[in-house]
Amino acid sequence: MRVSQVLVPTLREVPAEAEVVSQKLMLRAGLIRKSAAGIYTYLPLGLRILKKIEQIVREEMDAKGGQEVLLPIVQPAELWRETGRWDVYGPEMFRVTDRHEREFCLGPTHEEIVTDLVRGEVRSYKQLPLLLYQIQNKYRDERRPRFGLMRGREFVMKDLYSFDRDEAGLAESYNKMYDAYTRIFSRCGLTFRPVEADAGAIGGSGGTHEFMVLADSGEAAVVYCPDCDYAANVEKAECSPHPIESETVNGEYERVATPDSKTIDQVSDFLGLGKHELVKSILYQGDDQIFLVLVRGDREINEIKLNNMLGPFVNLQLAAAETVRETLGCEPGFVGPINAAKDLKIVADLEVPLMKRAACGANQPDQHYVNVLPERDFRMDQVFDLRMVNAGEKCPKCGGSLQEARGIEVGQVFKLGTKYSKALNATFLDENGQEKPCVMGCYGVGVSRTIAAAIEQNNDKDGIIWPIPIAPFHVILVPVSMKDTQVAETADKLYEEMRKAGVEVIIDDRDERPGVKFKDADLVGYPLRVTVGSKTLAEGKVELRFRKSGEMELVKVEELTARVK
Ligand code: ATP
Ligand code: MG
Ligand code: MG
Ligand code: MG
Repeated sequence: MRVSQVLVPTLREVPAEAEVVSQKLMLRAGLIRKSAAGIYTYLPLGLRILKKIEQIVREEMDAKGGQEVLLPIVQPAELWRETGRWDVYGPEMFRVTDRHEREFCLGPTHEEIVTDLVRGEVRSYKQLPLLLYQIQNKYRDERRPRFGLMRGREFVMKDLYSFDRDEAGLAESYNKMYDAYTRIFSRCGLTFRPVEADAGAIGGSGGTHEFMVLADSGEAAVVYCPDCDYAANVEKAECSPHPIESETVNGEYERVATPDSKTIDQVSDFLGLGKHELVKSILYQGDDQIFLVLVRGDREINEIKLNNMLGPFVNLQLAAAETVRETLGCEPGFVGPINAAKDLKIVADLEVPLMKRAACGANQPDQHYVNVLPERDFRMDQVFDLRMVNAGEKCPKCGGSLQEARGIEVGQVFKLGTKYSKALNATFLDENGQEKPCVMGCYGVGVSRTIAAAIEQNNDKDGIIWPIPIAPFHVILVPVSMKDTQVAETADKLYEEMRKAGVEVIIDDRDERPGVKFKDADLVGYPLRVTVGSKTLAEGKVELRFRKSGEMELVKVEELTARVK
């Protein structure tokens, strides 16, 4: 490629709207342009980077037996009604109506569509396991689209869905994906940690991991142990059982309606809990907030499943919560609003002190606490537990001292179980001719977010420093003057030679000053720069410079291609 012929509109100034470094640099390097909040155009170099990451993801999915498909973006509302998610997905879903007044959404995720496919095509255990994936745009009308590609409203995701015969099969698929994700992010040259992301109460422990790229601008807080492999997002860590002091309760509260056992069974079923498990805590969604609802059953509350709302596929829980609200026929007491985007962090910061205040009777209980009786409806220690694990505390695995870091969620693997296959009736006949629901998992990689995460980790004052596997080009060839025929001709010859040898090379053949070309090369972040100038050419050499270290060496013209290959 020739810089003179491609659209790489680099900017000297930092665009005013840009908040984080990756966003600033992607705009300045001419990789993307904004079209609307959270919606971007990829320019030629930006698209090359996206395609590189896609290709790495594709290879790793294929290596694990994934089969690539392309599912529709426009999805019929009926399918979402079957799982109950149409009414509860909330304002994050982009909805459209066709000329016949039929409702659709732009897919924020694809469980419904893919499960519908499988229910139509899979009959026998012999067709399982089935691992289907796609790489395409997702649509989420995020409350706060920001940070460029980091939190878009239209973004590129790889999503794979696994269908297995049983839990053991699911565990195998899950491990394959976990392994594939580890390979993907390593191949992208990123520093990351897989972290436990679920309290593990529903669907057993180890039900979900998030892959976090460690970077200060990350929106998530992660605690990790430097002495072993323990890592968790703070939500998970905060939810894990942790013995602490209990508080005495002086408040006077009305009793919350107690659901009868039939309701509990129905709800437990819907939530995918065991038949006799108690519905202990439920989340439901208001306009743009989520509330934690504590429903009292016939046992004491001993788990607050807050992070049911943190995974990608939380909305079934939200649907369930809505059902609870309806079936109870009353407004259950709830504990304050929780910010849907930052949920637990805010629970910890905002709600717990409020709870504490109300529980100790220090203030008039706020209207939020009507119908809630601490110790009867929930245990105070569990509530206070939400803020317990912090950096410096003991690692639950090895006793080491936990450290805190910020993380960017670039991927998540998730055991779904039979929630969707039951709701949509995606079943198969086992060896004994018995009909069983498929056991599912889902696994997402934020392909476009990974670009931003890579830049957050790899940049300096001059620009981006691409890890080689995802660099738009490996080498930029810079003739210092296009007017010097020897320089221009040598550069051109080298360009053709490298291209023939399969080197990913771009030549800056613009009639610009060398300073401008060098600045742009550093800004865009090509790993290697080759400068062709008359001084070194006099000795038959060109200058090779490494973007990352800044090191330079002189290489003989005839040895260059072999050197950079
Ligand atoms: P977040 O917690 O950041 O909102 P999520 O948990 O809602 O993400 P998932 O449903 O798990 O996201 O989707 C799989 C992956 O898609 C995420 O791990 C992330 O990398 C990416 N992703 C999710 N939302 C966005 C977005 N708005 N813009 C870009 N990438 C996103
Ligand atoms: Mg998340
Ligand atoms: Mg997620
Ligand atoms: Mg989200």
